[in-house]
Amino acid sequence: MTGKNKQSAWGVLPEEWKPICRELGVPAYRADQITVALHRNLAMSWQEVTTLSKDLRQTLSENFTLEPLKIVRTHTSADRVEKLLLECDDGERIETVLIPSKGRVTQCISTQAGCAFRCAFCASGMNGLNRSLEAGEIVAQVISACQLMREKPELVPFKAIGAPRPGNIVVMGMGEPFDNYDQVIRALRILNDQRGINIGARHITISTCGVVPGIKRLGEEGLQFELSVSLHAPNDELRSQIMPVNKKWPIRELLDVCNAYTAKTGRIVTYEYTLVRDFNDQPQHVAALIQLLRRCHCKVNLIPLSPVAGYSGRQPDERRCLEFLDALHKARVNVTMRKSRGKDVNAACGQLRVAEAGG
Ligand code: SF4
Repeated sequence: MTGKNKQSAWGVLPEEWKPICRELGVPAYRADQITVALHRNLAMSWQEVTTLSKDLRQTLSENFTLEPLKIVRTHTSADRVEKLLLECDDGERIETVLIPSKGRVTQCISTQAGCAFRCAFCASGMNGLNRSLEAGEIVAQVISACQLMREKPELVPFKAIGAPRPGNIVVMGMGEPFDNYDQVIRALRILNDQRGINIGARHITISTCGVVPGIKRLGEEGLQFELSVSLHAPNDELRSQIMPVNKKWPIRELLDVCNAYTAKTGRIVTYEYTLVRDFNDQPQHVAALIQLLRRCHCKVNLIPLSPVAGYSGRQPDERRCLEFLDALHKARVNVTMRKSRGKDVNAACGQLRVAEAGG
């Protein structure tokens, strides 16, 4: 093991510490101490892990970085959504959002710096993809948030859940998770591991814009994560206008792979449908959506559009949103409507980073 290319300790799975300890010539029980120090005690440097010998701390610090991501800025919205702008080692900036609700904190995490998929109403895709994040950088977003909650408990009501950690993780921040499949799944396994941060699989939701091979692969993993798919339109013509990914994997192919995923895993897919005034919110659109999903065992989540700089679409009025919801209810589609939170801190995906960059 060399200290030249240091690996992030946050990107190591708990079971990997044992072979690492063997390689370093230290007893295997040290592996458990390392996991507890990292994921339970949220150590911010090797030097503070006093359960380990001084020599081992030194060796670990030569081989593994343990710094949290630098918090460049925090913004708190009027409805208590906390948005963090974080900086990676190479200066790349990414976002994560903490949303307190019902005594729990849901954390939205990023998987890439920027995004190549360029969905119309998403700030993350506006300037393309800079790079994908390492698993350690994805986990470190949660660690940074845990540390912030520990230092500033007034920010989020973590006391209500007994520990400074999020109760739910949603992979809905910057980036397309299946465009960075291996690192994302590794990070989620680390967050899910009972020896570590221990966030239950059913409290972890992966959101994709519709990358069909990624959905297929996830279905073969035997994992119990929730899957959410951005649909946003009831036909290919409209969907391709706002989601270029649809030209590669059109709706029929997407629904087929989602149905196969449900058949294989027993997990229901949630389709996200952002309502945009006069674009996809009309009676013919809800009729087409009902027709499309009539044989799918799924959920639909309606989201009235939040304004995004660079996209001219507008939010439908409340009556239109409720009519759309009601039509789905009447057709026995399992549907909910989500309110956007944190609008005053640019909490939608990618907005803070764009605002900070003057974009
Ligand atoms: S919605 Fe997701 S996939 Fe689409 S541009 Fe934004 S980050 Fe990328």
